[in-house]
Amino acid sequence: MKKFICCALGAAVAATLLPLAACGGASQVSRYHIKAEYLEDEAVLRCEMTVDVFNSTDNAFERIPFELWANAYREGAEYRPVSALYSSAAYYDGESYGGIDITDVVGGVYAIGGEDENILYVTPETPLYPDESVTFTMSFDVRLARVNHRLGVGEHAVNLSGFYPVLCSVKDGGFFECVYSENGDPFVSDCADYSVELTVPEKYDVAGAELSSKSNDKCVFLFEAEHVRDVAFVLSDNFTRTDGTACGVPVSYYSLSDGDPAATLGTACEALEFCSENFGDYAYPRYTVAETDFPYGGMEFPMLSMISSASADAQRPSIVVHETAHQWWYASVGSNQFEEAWQDEGLAEWTTAFFMETHPQYGGSYREIVNASEKSYRAFFSVKSQVNGETDTRMSRPLTSYSGLYEYRNIAYDKGVILFDRIRDVAGEQKLIKGLKNYAAEYRGKIASPADLICCLTDAGARVEELVLSFTEGRCVI
Ligand SMILES: [Zn+2]
Repeated sequence: MKKFICCALGAAVAATLLPLAACGGASQVSRYHIKAEYLEDEAVLRCEMTVDVFNSTDNAFERIPFELWANAYREGAEYRPVSALYSSAAYYDGESYGGIDITDVVGGVYAIGGEDENILYVTPETPLYPDESVTFTMSFDVRLARVNHRLGVGEHAVNLSGFYPVLCSVKDGGFFECVYSENGDPFVSDCADYSVELTVPEKYDVAGAELSSKSNDKCVFLFEAEHVRDVAFVLSDNFTRTDGTACGVPVSYYSLSDGDPAATLGTACEALEFCSENFGDYAYPRYTVAETDFPYGGMEFPMLSMISSASADAQRPSIVVHETAHQWWYASVGSNQFEEAWQDEGLAEWTTAFFMETHPQYGGSYREIVNASEKSYRAFFSVKSQVNGETDTRMSRPLTSYSGLYEYRNIAYDKGVILFDRIRDVAGEQKLIKGLKNYAAEYRGKIASPADLICCLTDAGARVEELVLSFTEGRCVI
């Protein structure tokens, strides 16, 4: 995600099939088959999903947890998806609520629990043993709030992400459950194979899927991919589609109000080429960028980036580059976004600065971006220290531990940019890029820890373990 929260913080802040990835073949990952229909009059997405859950751990499980991200939009949710800062921009029509109603699960007994009704637990008839699979078929309705956000009916488009129960990721031999957070992107999921059939009223085009058939005033769009972390789509009856290619990959831009869609498409292609050249080949067979209703910047998904239609023309290129960088740092190389947000956000933001160094036509420069991050971070540190007496500058911490977006932005993004700039200073650009290339190759399709990143940098000759830890543990002074 890329967000811009410079000026609204008050006086205190003056300032089709994929190649198989390294971690296994199609038989060794879970598999989702989703049939969904968007019922516009009811603002409901009616779904049936069959999921084959594969147990890649050495442990047996009596119950299987799934994240219910859609429930964060319900009335009374403790962990809401939108911060107060963006509430009025997101809830354009006043308060509005959504949620997910599970109506049936075949293959197991189910219950909704977790800290905030955010987890669907399914207990199969027999425990799920290592290297075995169990199949559940779930029926559910997703009620869509009227909101310009990741999931909801926006002013000009319908965003569909996190709409289905998402199998919790594996961590330390068990499942990792987490709540939603208005700070950052709390999503952590393992790669799986997906087949999605999405039916929409005829007037809609769907960014992120291909039209398959039309009948009875409805259109059916299909999405199929192997080894992706999640799926997302954007619906609109007002899209203009512009197509191009980069590194032999088809790239499509679905725009709403962008006055120069060819230029934005060009930026997406340049960013994809830049990242491919520096970090290794793009992992997927196509890439889609969709302009949509979103209260800030943009939002990344595998093979799809959402770009806010509220973005100023001058901001759009850096947003597109940042989100495209996430195709490497988040989509292909996963990380624990809930506990180590800097690992993908800091890297995506630093990659944007690195891109600007060789693309001066966008009016930004590497040094300007790094300097702006340093200035912002120092102002944050000064303000927080004055207000609180001390400042928690740890980068390794849960999203829910941040006091708000101001702190999150400065720790995950700005301090992240400073960290990778320091690594470049200390180790040299060649070793940093070699290390990142190793990281992208080694952890393609997996979830990497900070130690894994450090290991890849070290193997490339960048001996920066202490430097990285001094940043992530909040010991260094900037
Ligand atoms: Zn981001």
